[in-house]
Amino acid sequence: SLQERYMLKVEGLTVSFDGFKAVDDLSFYVEPNECRVIIGPNGAGKTTVLDLICGRTRATDGSVKFKDHELLKMREDQIVHAGVGRKFQTPSVYEDLTVFENLEISYPSGYSVFGALAFVRSPNVQHRIAEIAETIFLEDLLDEKAAFLSHGQKQWLEIGMLLIQDPELLMLDEPVAGMSVAERKKTAELLNRIIQDRSVIVIEHDMGFVADIATRVNVLHQGKMLSEGSMAHVQADPKVIEVYLGH
Ligand code: ADP
Repeated sequence: SLQERYMLKVEGLTVSFDGFKAVDDLSFYVEPNECRVIIGPNGAGKTTVLDLICGRTRATDGSVKFKDHELLKMREDQIVHAGVGRKFQTPSVYEDLTVFENLEISYPSGYSVFGALAFVRSPNVQHRIAEIAETIFLEDLLDEKAAFLSHGQKQWLEIGMLLIQDPELLMLDEPVAGMSVAERKKTAELLNRIIQDRSVIVIEHDMGFVADIATRVNVLHQGKMLSEGSMAHVQADPKVIEVYLGH
C-alpha cells in the first residue's frame, strides 16, 4: 500500500515569514532505503524544509506524514522520538568525552555516563557502540577524546550519535562541508551503508558527492520544486540548467 511504500510524505508544505514564502507548496515522497538529496541555490529554502520536517520551524500550511505520524502537529522532541534524526552543519560532539562516551550518552535509554549507574555498562549497549563505531570508521579510536578527532571524524561521530538512537529517517545538512577528498569518499560509503536499513535526506552542494550518494534529487528554487528525479534527469533538465547558469 501507499502507506507502506513511503516513509515520508510531504504535501503542500508552505511557510511564510512576514508574507514571504520561503517554502511554497512543496510536495515530495521519500521511500524506505532512499538517499534523497536536496540541492538548489542559496536561499532556495533547503534548510527551512529540514527545519519544518523536524519541528524546529512551524509550517504555515501542508502536511508531513512520517509513517503514521503527522509531524506538523508534533513537537521537536516527539518527532525525534518517532524516529527522525537531524544533524546540523556544525559538529556538536562533547569534546572532553571519548568517542565511546559520546556514543554512550547518546544511547536512548536515559542511561548516562553521568548517572548513578555509570559503572554498569550493559553488554547490549557495548555491542551497539562497537557496531556503530565500526560503521563510522572510528572503531580504533573509541578511547580517544573527541577534541583530538579531525573535523571529518567529528562529523562521523555526530552521525554515529544519531544512529545509536536508531532513527528510520536521518536528515543531514551539508555533511561533507570542510572535509578532505578522502573523507568525502568515506562519507559517501557511510551514507550507502546507512540506507541499507533507513532513509536519509541530505542537503548538499558538492555535485560529485551528490552523484555518489543520491537515489533521487530534489532541486529547489525560490521555495518551489524546480525539478525532481535521478541525478541524470535533473542535470539534463533545461529549467535546472537555466537556474544554475544564471548564478
Ligand atoms: P537555503 O538553505 O536553500 O540556502 P534557507 O532555507 O536557509 O535557504 O532560506 C530560504 C529563505 O527563507 C531565505 O530567503 C531566508 O532568508 C528565509 N528565511 C529562513 N528562515 C527565516 C526566518 N526564520 N525568518 C525570516 N526569513 C527566513
